[in-house]
Amino acid sequence: MQFSHDPKLNEIAAQVEAGARLSFADGLALYATDDLSALGKLADTVRRRLHGRRTYYNVNRHFNYTNVCYADCKFCGFYRSPRQPDAYTHSVEEALKLAGAAVAEGATELHIVGGLNTKLPFSYYTDLLSSLKHAYPRLYLKAFTMVELDHIAHFYKLSDDDVIEQLKAAGMDSCPGGGAEIFREPTRSTICAHKTDAERWLDLAGKVHAAGLKTNATMLYGHIESIEDRVDHLVRLREQQDKTGGFQCFIPLAFYPPGTKLAHLAGPSGVDSLKTVAVSRLMLDNFAHIKAYWVMLGKRLAQVALHYGANDLDGTITEGGELTESYSVEAGNEVRMSKDEIAALIRDAGFEPVERDTLYHPVAELSAA
Ligand code: SF4
Repeated sequence: MQFSHDPKLNEIAAQVEAGARLSFADGLALYATDDLSALGKLADTVRRRLHGRRTYYNVNRHFNYTNVCYADCKFCGFYRSPRQPDAYTHSVEEALKLAGAAVAEGATELHIVGGLNTKLPFSYYTDLLSSLKHAYPRLYLKAFTMVELDHIAHFYKLSDDDVIEQLKAAGMDSCPGGGAEIFREPTRSTICAHKTDAERWLDLAGKVHAAGLKTNATMLYGHIESIEDRVDHLVRLREQQDKTGGFQCFIPLAFYPPGTKLAHLAGPSGVDSLKTVAVSRLMLDNFAHIKAYWVMLGKRLAQVALHYGANDLDGTITEGGELTESYSVEAGNEVRMSKDEIAALIRDAGFEPVERDTLYHPVAELSAA
């Protein structure tokens, strides 16, 4: 029996079965197929080969330390200019208070990201990390995207290695995957002209990996980008992973237009989101984990995405997402799920929930050790 009514998908399925790497053209063909269920099945085969029925989540909190930013990205509804009444920068004391509440609720990770705020001294970043690490040594600090690291290096005239080493010494345990958006030009310059370019983002990720820290990687899809842009993005991430190997997880981020300069766009459909998860799983053969980021997908679609190659639902989260929390709240998605709720979603989808720490160690095994 044929795997699919799409002959090209059958060819690709044979390559996947043989463990062959998929090409740029294969990526385009995967997106072009009208056989969504066969595409999902193929991605699910790879996901089960890697992880069986295990589906990861963590207990985490997000801390967006400032929303002041000069970068003016067209897809961003989060940033504010310093004079806007709702512009904010949190103090270290506020961070400690939030972290304390998170630890009391069982959080194992604090995800720390913010805008590019030129009013902050470099010591703000190191004080923030070292104070948190001193007060809560077991709380994993996943802090600062490659865009923030690039800003810090340029603005404070430090070398990349100095920035990474000083932040690492202060308590930075790993880095989140934001700021990748879409690498390919001219799309990148159209949506985020003032942001770190693709080569720089990838180069910095490699330097963080070389310093012994893990990072994640994202792709913002569903705005003005083409399918070629998306596949190019995945191929570039795969090439970087071949070189430095430090990416843990890939997170496709569904664009949510309201509140942005691209508010006239519709954003991605449910089918587009499922395809993107599946194509990511199939193209990123050297990434261990693909995340269905429920904050952006919504709980229901994220649950379905577990059958399209995703093996991680992210976390319980409280404040924010990948700088996109306001979108999700406006969309009516609660930016919080309890452990029981996440586990129930995973079980209901036919998978086995595993609470993990940031490095994907099962928390139950760590507690038993
Ligand atoms: S996405 Fe990040 S860098 Fe761009 S405007 Fe928003 S906060 Fe600034």
